[in-house]
Amino acid sequence: MDRKGILVVVSGYSGVGKGTLMKELTARYGQYALSISATTRAPREGEADGREYFFKTVDEFEQMIEQGRLIEYASYCDHYYGTPKDYVEEQLAEGHDVILEIEQQGALKVKAQNPDVLMLFVMPPDAQTLVERLRGRDTESEKVIRQRLVQAIEESKYVDRYDYMVVNADLDQAVEEVHQLIESQHNMISRNLDFAKQIQMELKDLVG
Ligand code: 5GP
Repeated sequence: MDRKGILVVVSGYSGVGKGTLMKELTARYGQYALSISATTRAPREGEADGREYFFKTVDEFEQMIEQGRLIEYASYCDHYYGTPKDYVEEQLAEGHDVILEIEQQGALKVKAQNPDVLMLFVMPPDAQTLVERLRGRDTESEKVIRQRLVQAIEESKYVDRYDYMVVNADLDQAVEEVHQLIESQHNMISRNLDFAKQIQMELKDLVG
C-alpha cells in the first residue's frame, strides 16, 4: 500500500519551542522532512546557513519571489521568510511527510493552495511561560522580544484556522502528540479510497 506524503504546517508563538519540537520529531522518526526556509533575518549564534535557514539578502529574497521559487512568503517582524518550492515537492513525491514550520500569514496561504494540509498550532502551557522562554533564550534584544509578543497577539486572532493544537509543556509528550496527529491523518478514509476500493474488489472476487 502506497503512503502519500502529508503536508503539515506547524505554527506557534515565537518562543513556544516549535524549532526544538520539530528537531526532536525528525530525529525520532524517519518519515518526516523538515523544510528549510529562506529568510532575510541575520543568523543567531549557533545557526548555520542551509541548516536552520538559507540566509539571504533582501535582493536575493526578492529574486526568489520573482522567479516563483517560493510556495509562500511573509514579512514577519521586519524580515522576509519564505518556503522554497523544490524541496517540498520532491519530498512529498517521495512519500515523506513534509513539515513547514511557518508563521500564520504564510500558513494561511499554504492552506488556501492545499486544502488538505494538516494545520497544527503549538501553544505554551500559559502566557507567562512563553514570555519567560522568549527572554530565557537570550538571543533577542528587549525591543525584538516585545515586537514578537505583539506579533503573538496578532497571530492569536487566527488560531481558529488551525485543525489541532499541541500544548508544549513537556517536550517528549508534545513530540508524541504531533506524531500521533500526523499518523491519524494518514488513516483518514478520504486519503485511502484506493486501498478501500481494492479490498472491496478482492472481496467481490473471493465471494463471487
Ligand atoms: P525565527 O526568526 O524565530 O526563526 O522565526 C520567526 C517566525 O517566522 C516563526 O514564527 C517561524 O515559524 C516563521 N517562519 C520561519 N520560516 C518561515 C517561512 O518559510 N515562511 C513563513 N511564512 N514563516 C516562517
